[in-house]
Amino acid sequence: MSTNSKPKITPSIDMEAPEFKDFAKEMVDYIANYLENIRDRRVLPSVEPGYLRPLIPSEAPQRPESWEDVMADIERVIMPGVTHWHSPKFHAYFPTANSYPAIVADMLCGAIACIGFSWIASPACTELEVVMLDWLGKMIGLPEEFLACSGGKGGGVIQGTASEATLVALLGAKAKKLQQVKAEHPDWDDSVIIPKLVGYCSKQAHSSVERAGLLGGVKLRSIEADNDNRLKGEVLEAAIKKDLADGLIPFYAVVTLGTTSTCAFDYLDECGPVGNKYDVWIHVDAAYAGSAFICPEYRHFMKGMETADSFNFNPHKWMLVNFDCSAMWLKDPSWVINAFNVDPLYLKHDQQGSAPDYRHWQIPLGRRFRALKLWFVLRLYGIENLQAHIRRHCGFATQFGELCASDSRFEIYGDINMGLVCFRLKGSNDLNEALLKKINGRGNIHLVPSKIKETYFLRMAVCSRFTVSEDMEFSWNEVKASANEVFAEKN
Ligand SMILES: *Cc1c(COP(=O)(O)O)cnc(C)c1O
Repeated sequence: MSTNSKPKITPSIDMEAPEFKDFAKEMVDYIANYLENIRDRRVLPSVEPGYLRPLIPSEAPQRPESWEDVMADIERVIMPGVTHWHSPKFHAYFPTANSYPAIVADMLCGAIACIGFSWIASPACTELEVVMLDWLGKMIGLPEEFLACSGGKGGGVIQGTASEATLVALLGAKAKKLQQVKAEHPDWDDSVIIPKLVGYCSKQAHSSVERAGLLGGVKLRSIEADNDNRLKGEVLEAAIKKDLADGLIPFYAVVTLGTTSTCAFDYLDECGPVGNKYDVWIHVDAAYAGSAFICPEYRHFMKGMETADSFNFNPHKWMLVNFDCSAMWLKDPSWVINAFNVDPLYLKHDQQGSAPDYRHWQIPLGRRFRALKLWFVLRLYGIENLQAHIRRHCGFATQFGELCASDSRFEIYGDINMGLVCFRLKGSNDLNEALLKKINGRGNIHLVPSKIKETYFLRMAVCSRFTVSEDMEFSWNEVKASANEVFAEKN
């Protein structure tokens, strides 16, 4: 609050710029200190559910407090209950990105605080997004037809999450198929067609794919992947043929590049042509592994991309752009745009049609200026350093795999793909469950398990931007020490 105002004027109820500067500078120091020393914190909190309520008042304050008081409470109230996703000791799930350029861009996004649902609602918000998706598409060698700069129909959009991209693609595919079928059968209406629609994904697809089916009100069949957990074209084709023979209408298939359990890659070069042959929309979900396509040596996994209708990956996972930033490209966005197009007068504007009105490409109306994060990160790292980041993480996975292979009690499950190592103790699932419980109970590193066809295994994902080789040794020693304890208790 301003203290030097003339006596007659009521002090502003807002924080003023000088105070904001002090507060923000203090926060910047706090953030830098937090991140640079994150390794020293216990990666998994040891609090119990309900820990927080007794630490703060039961009512919001009637009178304003000072920002210093708020800052002081971060360590007392918040940090004891934080799982430190950016600690080099965090190996659960997949990484979520974090970088200083993205944090600073988020500050600017917060300051502009526009809602970029249409071009006129903030032209820079839309236009930077269009160009950034072109930059990004070129960085991963996406076929021209997906890019806005090609002058064709294609283009990209930033969705909040990969889950939304999968749903948006499904709804576009559904709209397209409905129109096609109605042209062939003018007497069929939605209530006849929709129950016949069927989509496909591998059993290894992310749970968000099944959810997209539920949300989209259509059947989604999960089909068996091969022994390497990869979906093959012939299996997809057999499923489609059977459904056609049963009078159903195949319309959508999700091909996963980098599955969540083991980072396995479906055969896009086989599944894509099958989709094209049967007029089934192919959506490619590369949420985690897609970032690696900025390195030419990993692009062989995206062979067949020209057969896809939509493609998505999350720079917010592995490309140093903080959540939320899920990049999606559509070869022909008009199906999605028309699927959700409602156009009330208050959202209309004169330039409609000359630039995308991104509200039609997504589920919510409102959208943040997320392209700023991409712009800052791409400029301040350069493609070079982003590639180095990916390669370092892959190298750490190889290192961990070698450590694991050097201990005859352990086995690697499947291949080591990207920054993920799946491993287990030779022996029963129970033994491995005990191992995981021991590891997470010690709280020094954090891992999550997965299970495929009755085989339970542990996943070690390289997650932190701060990871160095010694961290991998530390993590491996934790695994080994936990195994020692498990065996000691067993005997
Ligand atoms: C992480 C992941 C998702 C979910 O990503 P969100 O952006 O959180 O929705 C989907 N698919 C795959 C393959 C993933 O690894």
